[in-house]
Amino acid sequence: MNRNRTADAIVVGGGVIGAAIAHRLALAGLGRIVLCDQGRVAAQGATARSGGLLRLHHTAAPDTLLTARSLPVFEQWTERIGGDCGYRRTGFLMLVGPDHVETLRANGAVAADALRYERAEILAPDEIRSLYPGLSTEGVAAAAYEPAGGYADPAATAVSLVASARRLGVIASEGTRVERVWERNGSVAGVHTGTGRIEAPLVVLASGAWGDPPAAHLGVHLPVVPRRIGLAQARLPGAGRRGSDASVPTCIDDTIGCYFRPEALDQLYFGVPSNPEVDLGQDVAPLTDDEVGAAVQAVSRRVPAVATAELVGTRAGYDGYTPDKRPAIGPAGPDGLYLALGFSGGGFKMAPAVAELAAQEICEGGAVLGKAVQPLLEPYRPQRFESGNLITPEASYAHM
Ligand SMILES: Cc1cc2nc3c(=O)[nH]c(=O)nc-3n(C[C@H](O)[C@H](O)[C@H](O)COP(=O)(O)OP(=O)(O)OC[C@H]3O[C@@H](n4cnc5c(N)ncnc54)[C@H](O)[C@@H]3O)c2cc1C
Repeated sequence: MNRNRTADAIVVGGGVIGAAIAHRLALAGLGRIVLCDQGRVAAQGATARSGGLLRLHHTAAPDTLLTARSLPVFEQWTERIGGDCGYRRTGFLMLVGPDHVETLRANGAVAADALRYERAEILAPDEIRSLYPGLSTEGVAAAAYEPAGGYADPAATAVSLVASARRLGVIASEGTRVERVWERNGSVAGVHTGTGRIEAPLVVLASGAWGDPPAAHLGVHLPVVPRRIGLAQARLPGAGRRGSDASVPTCIDDTIGCYFRPEALDQLYFGVPSNPEVDLGQDVAPLTDDEVGAAVQAVSRRVPAVATAELVGTRAGYDGYTPDKRPAIGPAGPDGLYLALGFSGGGFKMAPAVAELAAQEICEGGAVLGKAVQPLLEPYRPQRFESGNLITPEASYAHM
């Protein structure tokens, strides 16, 4: 029996995006907010499986600007949000081969500018090895270095957002699947859930890979495709100890097409490439030996110790991908419906800024198209998929 039958806002999806938006709406004093998740908040979707890499370096400036606004929140989590997000400053390196050094400089300059640094730090191979002796630099021409880059713990981040939201009065309604957004006279009136109806003039769909089906009958059709992506975990003594011979950064390697980061002091997490064909109706399939084997082979070219390291874990999750691999953020469909989904394998690091700006738009414009506009969110509008105005990289790489 559902007793929470009226609200001022309903947020659908208790991953890091929905949790952060619910928290921000509560901070803004929006009133009674219900955060619905079909499972447990912070546990069901991509967030709980995410690698949590934090970096500014991107191929499109809008992404850099959102991550630059988010990084200080991760750095000052306890003061700004409360609790612990598990932020660790390991330094971030973007590695490229000789054909992409100019691109690296251009993208690095956008990142440096976003943090008001004088210029991007571009490292040569010998400088890379002296900072991180655990790396081979074979085939690397240069790296963009972000000293404050690193990682946070995505599950802990979302749990602490939900805890702070709860302290502000947000009701986390777990095991509550939203079947349909409900509309009356052109405006949102609430949602139908598996346990009854909740009335509210505002609904935020932050449903990750599960996408927009609850709003499909209202004419909302986003090209969001679920994909399974994974991580493997190896024991690598010293990987996270600065000064150790095995030290490695948080890293994206464009020469090989892989990414990794240290975990605590003596482990390494590394990416296992995505699988486009998934069925959301099923539990996420564990990574196969072949998938992990291919990733070990790739990463060990950059971190040689991985070739003989003990594998201690794997995990996989679904994230929602859009055609330009950027999220859909903004009003869509009837007045009062706001979307924040399709984060395409990269939503964690930008969640604080997305939530801050989305909450401002919602509070100022009531989630009505064109009524309140945060310029940093303009490139991400859901309507771009119909108009063909997709986000395109200003300067791109071989793999990224
Ligand atoms: C293996 C892996 C590694 C990654 N690495 C990184 C990284 O290093 N850096 C980075 O920035 N990003 C990374 N990502 C991506 C990032 O984690 C995601 O983009 C982000 O977590 C998406 O958050 P979300 O809240 O949109 O989605 P989710 O965390 O998937 O949450 C969506 C929630 O919505 C709920 N839901 C859906 N439909 C309904 C419904 N109808 N009713 C009720 N509840 C519903 C689901 O149960 C789920 O809990 C990674 C992802 C994975 C899987």
